[in-house]
Amino acid sequence: MSQIASDAANVVIDRTARYPEAPPRPTEEYRDATAKRANRTSTNSVETTRTALGRTLQLHRFSTPMEKGVSLERALEIANLTPMERNPETLTLDQATGRTLFDDLSSLVDDPRFDNSAMDGWAVREADCQETGAVLRIVGTSQAGSAEAPLVREGEACSIMTGAPIPDGADAIVMVEDSTTHDGTVTINGPARPGFIRKRGENLSQGDRPLKSGNILTPSAISLAATMGHDIVSVVRQPSIAVIGVGDELTPPGEPLSENSIYESNTFGISSLVEKMGGIPRRYELIRDSIDDLRQALDEAAESCDAIITSGGVSMGEWDIVRQIMEQEGDIRFWRIMMRPGGPPLFGSWKGKPLFGLPGNPVSSHVVFTVLVAPWMSNSMGSEKSNGPGLANRVRVTMQEPLKGAPGKLCMRRISIKQEGDNLVASTSTHQGSGNIHSMVAHNGLSLLPPDASCEKGDTIDALWLF
Ligand code: AMP
Ligand code: MG
Repeated sequence: MSQIASDAANVVIDRTARYPEAPPRPTEEYRDATAKRANRTSTNSVETTRTALGRTLQLHRFSTPMEKGVSLERALEIANLTPMERNPETLTLDQATGRTLFDDLSSLVDDPRFDNSAMDGWAVREADCQETGAVLRIVGTSQAGSAEAPLVREGEACSIMTGAPIPDGADAIVMVEDSTTHDGTVTINGPARPGFIRKRGENLSQGDRPLKSGNILTPSAISLAATMGHDIVSVVRQPSIAVIGVGDELTPPGEPLSENSIYESNTFGISSLVEKMGGIPRRYELIRDSIDDLRQALDEAAESCDAIITSGGVSMGEWDIVRQIMEQEGDIRFWRIMMRPGGPPLFGSWKGKPLFGLPGNPVSSHVVFTVLVAPWMSNSMGSEKSNGPGLANRVRVTMQEPLKGAPGKLCMRRISIKQEGDNLVASTSTHQGSGNIHSMVAHNGLSLLPPDASCEKGDTIDALWLF
């Protein structure tokens, strides 16, 4: 049974009894119950509790307690314990660029299939060409794709094209540039090289598995698959991921703004990130700060998607309803990461489907996706990339200005990385606020300043160079 399926089996779901009178807004009573739940360790059971107002809250208990304020490494470790289901689909090679191989792919043929020439020239016997100026009788031509080539005997040469089969008797190739022809003979003016013969199977033998499950089908991997005889491949099905934005203040771009409302951006940015990671984003209608609406959206998403990403509502505030509903009705595995920006996220599951609650601040949600959700997606998809940071290369950069770190937190400031001589150097330009999404566009990297560390101009630090 998959991790997700086994998680689902642990969750006792009673749809009818569930929050029959749950408040449309987060009430004090809901928040109190939330606070209590956050401090519980749990067993596998469901408990109902009667509140002061007589409402019935159904509290789910789980075998794994929530961890609070974890390191980024720990957050990833915890999230990786709850991957998405990994399923195959079959595609033609034309459709498969960038996809992740589901199974190993073995070669149906030897590569090369037969000994052939690496050069246009003459197939000869090396012993006949020991001295410059040797004259050999031309016995025919071996062409790529042609049938039988003539036998090459002592004192003979066969004209040969790149990729054409080596005629029996020949054991070396003379390049056409090193020869002159006259009256049915060829004069050899350069070396006869056995190394210009590409030997059968020297690249791959039939049955070899040079492409492994998890390999990304890069253009060269696509070529290799075709070389090995495959016209269709089994790849990891693209996970469909619900992207749900939460907040009363949010208005979709293109619609009129009311006073105090702002354009919503995260569901677009996060969907774009999901797509970049090889998933299929399912962007939901915005959810007001309403627990009922949120529950309905989460339920629908859990039914129809492989995972759920929410944006906003995971901090300490009383309107942070994603955190509240997850604490009450979901299963949280961790809440808050010791990083800046992007401290407040949570991870857990809703009805057995993995759920990331990303912070509402746009930079925070992008950064958390980049360093946490992206590698988790790679891991879920069994990708070879799952060991690296998602959507970035880890590099060392020399700072051209001081950079302030964060007490107790990994600090990921936006930096611009460029090559200067033999070094990568980095600097900052815009305001670094976690609400300033322009800072992600104006820069191409993130510092990886360890907790409590700052750096001076000229210091070399770890960084992520974003793709
Ligand atoms: P929250 O995490 O809900 O407390 O939101 C933190 C900040 O991010 C607030 O300034 C929100 O207005 C903003 N915010 C939340 N969700 C979004 C979103 N989907 N698009 C843009 N800004 C958002
Ligand atoms: Mg909010």
